[in-house]
Amino acid sequence: MSTLPSQPNCTDFFDPRTISVTTALNRILDRLRPVKGCETVSLDIALNRVLAEPLVSSFDVPLHTNAAVDGFAIRSRDLPPSGQTAVFQVIGEALAGHPFSDDIAPDQSVAIMTGAPLPDETDTILMQEHVKALEGNRILVGDRHHAGENVRRAGEDIRQGETVLKPGRLLTPADLGLIASLGIIEIKVKRKLKIAVLSTGDEILPQGVPRKPGKLYDSNRFSLMAVLRKLPVEILDYGIVPDDPSLLRQAFEDAIDRSDVIISSGGVSVGEADYTQKVLAELGTIDFWKVAIKPGRPLAFGQPGNSAFFGLPGNPVAVMVTYYRFVLPALYHMAGTDSPPLIPAFPARTVEALRKKPGRTEFQRGILSVDAEGRWQVETTGQQGSGILSSMSLANCFIVLEHERARVEAGETVTVWPFSALM
Ligand code: AMP
Ligand code: MG
Repeated sequence: MSTLPSQPNCTDFFDPRTISVTTALNRILDRLRPVKGCETVSLDIALNRVLAEPLVSSFDVPLHTNAAVDGFAIRSRDLPPSGQTAVFQVIGEALAGHPFSDDIAPDQSVAIMTGAPLPDETDTILMQEHVKALEGNRILVGDRHHAGENVRRAGEDIRQGETVLKPGRLLTPADLGLIASLGIIEIKVKRKLKIAVLSTGDEILPQGVPRKPGKLYDSNRFSLMAVLRKLPVEILDYGIVPDDPSLLRQAFEDAIDRSDVIISSGGVSVGEADYTQKVLAELGTIDFWKVAIKPGRPLAFGQPGNSAFFGLPGNPVAVMVTYYRFVLPALYHMAGTDSPPLIPAFPARTVEALRKKPGRTEFQRGILSVDAEGRWQVETTGQQGSGILSSMSLANCFIVLEHERARVEAGETVTVWPFSALM
């Protein structure tokens, strides 16, 4: 069933039906549900996967109270009172992995290495550098010490029975180390999203064929598949589909069967929208939105079958902007995580004035650098046309100019999203 068969185009920004970036994203997130399936995977390939079970520790970490430094293990009750010294006999050594297991008598100590479990009865480690070695395997100890110093307590990291990670967690490198410390090697995660990618347009040529007047080589599929490859997803490459209803229908039907998400580019602006709209309207719900964003104004979103469909604009810069702003948050949502990476937005000073109209969010391409005082500064890449892909290539960040903002003067603070931190 078709809901809003309007036909947005790239130029008119003052249509009352235009929706804000936030409204568009909220509508998308409201309608999409996380995938249900799970699978068991080995920890070494679980980075960026979404945990599907609570992870509970069956023991304390660290398992034993152990030395935090190299030094001497003693009983704190043998420490000298203030103003006095004491002498300890060193009766053995404890190494990481090789505990000292004999008994220890008053005024005795054990040489101990970092990570070695504390011998029974001892509770304090004197740092090597804080004692004086005496003849006959003895050490001289001053009055600067206190009970329990330089000791890592059993369970101080994780307590037995504690839930270490909850379902929905997007697994980070540190998480994988943490899980490994529990002795676990396989975990249950949400299954990977299957994502179909296609380019549409009669004018789009595949690489390897001779160029022709009025035609251009497909670039969107390559940018899109490259950003998708950073995620643990399965990509289905549907190539280029011409502006032909029956071929579009065939491609969409197949993609609906085989994937969770379909991302197409092109064919969502005036005139062209007809095909995508007509075909998808027969297969499920589809909306065509005019979003107050530049570039990226026309955006199609729908749910044909059990899939989510994103019809991105054809312009190569608009494709990347709408991917990061709408598709990526939707993918994290569908992957089932409640801890998606933060968008790496931070303030920087613009070295030049920026043209901007209020009433839409603009993603200009910027070059971020550090000025002589060590502060972030940004300039644009020059031409900001949404078809100028070289601007994306030249840029190392988006300059994000908020909805209400008007022209920005040189020296003002703007928000930047560095590409290096965008997943
Ligand atoms: P459309 O949204 O289909 O009207 O396309 C808008 C502009 O983007 C047109 O100039 C298209 O030629 C261009 N375009 C569409 N798809 C691609 C693609 N896959 N690669 C490069 N440019 C494209
Ligand atoms: Mg087209």
